[in-house]
Amino acid sequence: MAKYIFVTGGVSSSLGKGIISASLGTLLIDRGLKVTIQKFDPYINVDPGTMNPYEHGECFVTEDGAETDLDLGHYERFLGIDTSQANNVTTGRIYNTVIQNERAGVYLGKTVQVIPHITDEIKRRMKLLSSSGDGAYDIVITELGGTVGDIESLPYVEAVRQLRWELGHVNCLVVHLTLIPYLSAAKELKTKPTQHSVQLLSQYGLTPDVIVCRTEHTLTDEVKAKISRFCNVESNSVIEAIDASSIYQVPLIMQQEGLDQVVLDKLRISNYSKLKLNRWKRFINKLNNPVGEINIGLVGKYVELQDAYKSILEAFVHAGVANSIKVNVVSIHSEILDDQNIAEEFSGLSGLLVAPGFGDRGVEGKIEAIRYARENKLPFLGICLGMQCAVIEFARNVLGLADAHTTEVEPDTAHPVIYLMEEQKSIVRKGGTMRLGSFDCKLASGTQSHKAYKKKNIVERHRHRYEFNNEYLAQFEAAGMIAAGKNPDADLVEVVEVLDHPWFVGAQFHPEYKSRVLKPHPLFVAFVKAAAKYAESNADNSLLAETTV
Ligand code: GLN
Repeated sequence: MAKYIFVTGGVSSSLGKGIISASLGTLLIDRGLKVTIQKFDPYINVDPGTMNPYEHGECFVTEDGAETDLDLGHYERFLGIDTSQANNVTTGRIYNTVIQNERAGVYLGKTVQVIPHITDEIKRRMKLLSSSGDGAYDIVITELGGTVGDIESLPYVEAVRQLRWELGHVNCLVVHLTLIPYLSAAKELKTKPTQHSVQLLSQYGLTPDVIVCRTEHTLTDEVKAKISRFCNVESNSVIEAIDASSIYQVPLIMQQEGLDQVVLDKLRISNYSKLKLNRWKRFINKLNNPVGEINIGLVGKYVELQDAYKSILEAFVHAGVANSIKVNVVSIHSEILDDQNIAEEFSGLSGLLVAPGFGDRGVEGKIEAIRYARENKLPFLGICLGMQCAVIEFARNVLGLADAHTTEVEPDTAHPVIYLMEEQKSIVRKGGTMRLGSFDCKLASGTQSHKAYKKKNIVERHRHRYEFNNEYLAQFEAAGMIAAGKNPDADLVEVVEVLDHPWFVGAQFHPEYKSRVLKPHPLFVAFVKAAAKYAESNADNSLLAETTV
């Protein structure tokens, strides 16, 4: 039977419950245990797919096409596992099921209430992964979104309270992540907010077994003892989570603090192996000791919010390490770009990534950015809308179809080089109706993508409604932009490449979702390599220029 670890948060949001959960999972997996992580989000949206990235950051897409919380991206990147729809549940999804059940007469005339009907549905879903088909997990970690004390979190805390009794204390553990603020005037770390959040949790009938303390300064033994005494936890169960220079350091910090050992002991798990973390440590070592540095421009319309492009930023960290260099991602707002300022905005860049997106805002800036990259032989990776913009740019500036566009922005364009997929035309509902999740792609021999993947048949994740219009394909290919990858079943163009260019790849899919710490994504690795080469040859050129003068 699987054992359960619940991770709750207190005092403040944004303490990094997702990173702590993922770090704990990483340590437990390294010890040879089968682990998965799920997240329960207390908002009423059925999934975050319809939310603006400004509201909620990136929407992470799983293999099975679920649009999920960005923490699932951390889970996959840290643990190297695939998650699915079952790993992310929202209040909206819970209520949806309960209301549908009620309409179907499942509750046989009962009054349908938060307790027991909503809490029962929460509990059912909390246990779903461990009981589903191949889900033979030793441990299921469940992160509860929100902060203890929020009205909307209450049914989840109640469900965990009930589950603890049903499953027994040795099968069910609560890890509470909290903040220990530092008052600089008093030069003191304060435990009172933590005491209060644990008190609140106990009012709901839940006592934490382990308290992880997010802090900017090392906790003294005295502070730890105080937390242990006032919060009813053993002294070895007060874990310091000091601010780290990289999220990838956190598993090592948690291991030094003994979080995994405390958890294993409390859950009475004994069949684990010795912690090695060799590959993880090698990754950290390379991350901390890059041999060079390059700048890559990220052009998008949500650049003010780092979380909006989370998976892309992390994919660059992984690919940088694979190339032993540090990638500085320079965020550039697509709306400000035009042909006047582009050269200045792009000075010092060795590569350009044009981000995914929806709607017309910033599209012209993206197209302008791509023109610059194509003409100046700057390595380019376009993702989803970024690929679509590359197609539009090529159509306008190389094929001479001046008004070429995507019908997403210009429904009546004379040259719809990107248009709505046939099966999308009749769809009016917004939630979960895109072309979502994994689809096959076959790469053409000798292309940049083929060289990067080192194989022809790949499977990548998607999230889009519009596609390349195959009526124009012959024209594009004759002029030097080729379909380097296609979906073998539907003949949809998945990858475009410009031939007369050192590295110019546009992907209709999202490679960033599949990049992991210990398995960097081949396209990002190849892109960063091409950018590093560009940086090197440009440095040589300038050196050459200096010496000849
Ligand atoms: N808006 C485009 C489409 O729906 C691109 C989507 C994306 O970039 N994820 O096809």
